Parts: sequence; C-alpha cells; structure tokens
Amino acid sequence: KTFEELGVSEPICRAIQELGFEQPMPVQEEVIPYLLGNGNDVIALAQTGTGKTAAYGIPVLQKVNPEEKHTQALILSPTRELCLQIADDLADFSKYVSGLHVVPVYGGASIEMQIRQLRKGAQIIVATPGRLIDLMKRGVAQLDAVNNVVLDEADEMLNMGFTESINAIFEGVPTNRNTLLFSATMSREIEKIAKNYLNNYKEIVV
Ligand code: AMP
Repeated sequence: KTFEELGVSEPICRAIQELGFEQPMPVQEEVIPYLLGNGNDVIALAQTGTGKTAAYGIPVLQKVNPEEKHTQALILSPTRELCLQIADDLADFSKYVSGLHVVPVYGGASIEMQIRQLRKGAQIIVATPGRLIDLMKRGVAQLDAVNNVVLDEADEMLNMGFTESINAIFEGVPTNRNTLLFSATMSREIEKIAKNYLNNYKEIVV
C-alpha cells in the first residue's frame, strides 16, 4: 500500500516523498490507518529504526488543527536527544502544512527560551517529563485541550524514574483523549501504565 492509500494527506505525502519514504514500513501500515480511522488507543512494541516516529507522528500531525493555536498533542520522550529528533522529524513531515508549530522542551537547557517558544503557540509539544512538569507548574504549558498523548520509549522513561512525573502529567490532560504507548519491551510497569491510562487499546508488535 501507499501512504496515500493509508489516508495520509497530500501535503504530508509530498513531504515524506521528498524525504525518500517510498512505501510505509510495517508499523506505519498498521498504526496510521487505525489512528486516522476511528481507532482509539495503541500499544506498539517497536524498536528504534522500525519507523515508529512516523507511525504516530503522521496521524498526530494530521489530526491537529493548525488554525487553532492551543496545544492539541503531547509527545513524551525520555531524553533530550530523542525529544529533538522527534520534533525535527515532525517538522520535516509537516513542512507543507502552514501554521503548524512543534516545540521541543527538555531539561538541561535554558527554560526561558522554551517559555518564549511556547508562548508563541505550540499545537504539538514534544517533552521530557521533568521539564514539562516545570512548565505546567509555571502555567506556560497548557494541556487542557490536548487530545492526543504519545509516550515514546515508555520503557526507557520508566527505567529513568519518570513514573511519578508521567502520573502527574496524565492528571493534567483531559480524560477524553487518545493515548499511544510505544515501547521496545513489555513489562509489569508498562502494563500498569496501560491499565491506568489507556482504553480498549490495540496492541501491535513489530
Ligand atoms: P524511527 O524508528 O522512527 O527512528 O525511524 C527510523 C528511520 O527510518 C528514520 O531515519 C526515518 O526517517 C526512516 N523512515 C521512517 N519511515 C520510513 C519509510 N516509510 N521509508 C523509508 N524510511 C523511513
């Protein structure tokens, strides 16, 4: 199947074609049409290199309304490096969608600059958990209209001790949302997160 046949919009198809994506990778072929259809929550067991970023990134980008300035999607990642990588990838996929802003926020860097970026409007925030909590407490990251939450490398986030932060973040987003969990491995802790925060999820293993 082609990306177009999976329901990917024309501007995004054009951008990913320029990136050299000729055909969907397996995780993309499962996740993209599911999320663009009436799909609900997803747990995907997928390693880095399987194309997981585009699998969740493309549907999330396509579901965001660029005409609305408030934050509509939140992507959590364990590290600054992954956070920047995801934000770059999403900016690449959406280069022909005007008015769409993806802002990465992570620890170990000046918060002032990130506050300025968020104040300009970020429909999608890509964040490490600790820094996001700080920005939520300061009232800068406003998550009351978020309808898509992605946990990328969820196992790594839990291994790094972000369980409490993740719980606190889920307290701050609407319950009426889609939640997508990507992890290289399955564990008791992941099952607990799934039980607490996901509904009727589809499980995908690649
Ligand atoms: P990820 O698993 O998201 O880290 O992606 C692994 C690599 O595969 C990245 O460099 C992507 O740009 C690339 N990639 C993702 N999807 C495709 C595709 N459908 N065709 C070719 N390359 C892809």
